[in-house]
Amino acid sequence: MDERRKSTNLPEKRQVRISKSQYIKGLQCPKALWLYRHRPDLAAPVTDAKHRLFDSGHAVERMAWECFPAGMEITDPYYEIDKAIASTLAMIDQGATTIYEATACSASGAYCRIDILHKKQKAEKWDLIEIKQSTGVKDYHVDDMSFQRHVFESAGFPIGDSFLMHLNNAYVRRGPLEYDKLFTLENCNAPVAARLPEIPLQLAALKKMIRTSKEPCRAIGPHCSSPFECEFSNYCWQDIPATAVHRFFTGRQLEALLEREIHDIFDVPPDYAGPKRQQILLDAHKNGKSHIDPSGINVFLKTLQYPLYFLDYETIFPAVPLFDESSPYQQIPFQFSLHIQKTPGGSVKHIEYLHTEPTDPRTGFAAALVDACGETGSVIVYNQGFESRINRELGALLPEYKTALDQINARMVDLLAPFRSRIVYHPAMNGSASLKAVLPALVPELDYDGLAIADGTTASNMYLHCISGKCTEPEKKQIFTDLRKYCTMDTWAEVKLIEFLYRK
Ligand code: SF4
Repeated sequence: MDERRKSTNLPEKRQVRISKSQYIKGLQCPKALWLYRHRPDLAAPVTDAKHRLFDSGHAVERMAWECFPAGMEITDPYYEIDKAIASTLAMIDQGATTIYEATACSASGAYCRIDILHKKQKAEKWDLIEIKQSTGVKDYHVDDMSFQRHVFESAGFPIGDSFLMHLNNAYVRRGPLEYDKLFTLENCNAPVAARLPEIPLQLAALKKMIRTSKEPCRAIGPHCSSPFECEFSNYCWQDIPATAVHRFFTGRQLEALLEREIHDIFDVPPDYAGPKRQQILLDAHKNGKSHIDPSGINVFLKTLQYPLYFLDYETIFPAVPLFDESSPYQQIPFQFSLHIQKTPGGSVKHIEYLHTEPTDPRTGFAAALVDACGETGSVIVYNQGFESRINRELGALLPEYKTALDQINARMVDLLAPFRSRIVYHPAMNGSASLKAVLPALVPELDYDGLAIADGTTASNMYLHCISGKCTEPEKKQIFTDLRKYCTMDTWAEVKLIEFLYRK
């Protein structure tokens, strides 16, 4: 029996096995791994958005395989580890030099798949290629790759290089996808080698923790959402008071408060030397009263010039570019809503654009926008950086509209500014200046509850579903109706917030 076969023997029956995703979960928070193994019933259900992310990841993976053609694929289900290991060994015996989803398990019970196990012609060693739909190498990718290298080496495979294959955001699609340009292969040997020695120790600690029947103690903190949103957040955060510092502070500020054992914003001392906007927040919550700075509001309102154009965009940002002259994750606008008010307190007219064909929406979008926005008056948006960037990109793509789009940008006023700087702050905003938080706090008769589409990510996902060709006509009709209602609500919210500011 050769070394590889010996070491891929199944681990002892009672041994704890740990997959790569469980290992990564345990690195983020050991308690999350314990809950996953002992109390999976406490996990939040997998959302549609997450399912779409998985589907997109699988599609990207298959495209990346094209860069290593003629490979053999392990098709055993993900839970059939032993069968997948046996299939991998059988393929190697048949002379395969490229295996997709090759699987191995170390003698200590750590197991994983590798997206591509590849051996160059006449090479002695196998390269490990991990595919990600990101546009660069992230720290947790190095944990992934180190774990894979540990497992395959422990299972007796001679390993050469560890590569991360990710999307290349400098790639611009022109015609059919060119997979060799769409992907970038990064050699990660050095960071992987640096992390390898930690793995046996980490694994031993996690296995010991899994064996205990008592739920481990771990305080909530920034690790609950980094690098991933924890699926047990609802469980761990359920008894955290609404005024806990964790809900209002992040990063160094949060750490500094916790170091001083300050857990509730009511306990933050008067000598707290945070930025002014945090002081405003603390005072508003402690006093249970809104903060309103009339002179700040006045300065903001003086920047407005009628007629007012209240504008909002919806975009898709597919990992793999769908249209020519676009790149991975580029924001492609497909819809806008525009409310126009000619005089203060006057009537409001609504105009909208929604591209309903499965084609590049940008030309139709730009033409309709330029036509609708007139030549004078403030263009009010919520988070100017987003809409102005889209306009610049549209101008670069469509020179015939560049001057008009630049002029729209020059007229833009950011309605987010007075709320982000806390010229106005209401405790019900819960530390957020997003439109979804500000609107119900200041204009309680309006909110997004009851809308089938109530956020930008869902709007984007539903639109992508519509143009995927997998959507029935009645379904499409309903989604387009829901998209119109959602985008209209965003600009109507802007109208109402300006009315609110004028009243103060
Ligand atoms: S919510 Fe936070 S503390 Fe709880 S398991 Fe998840 S990461 Fe750990």
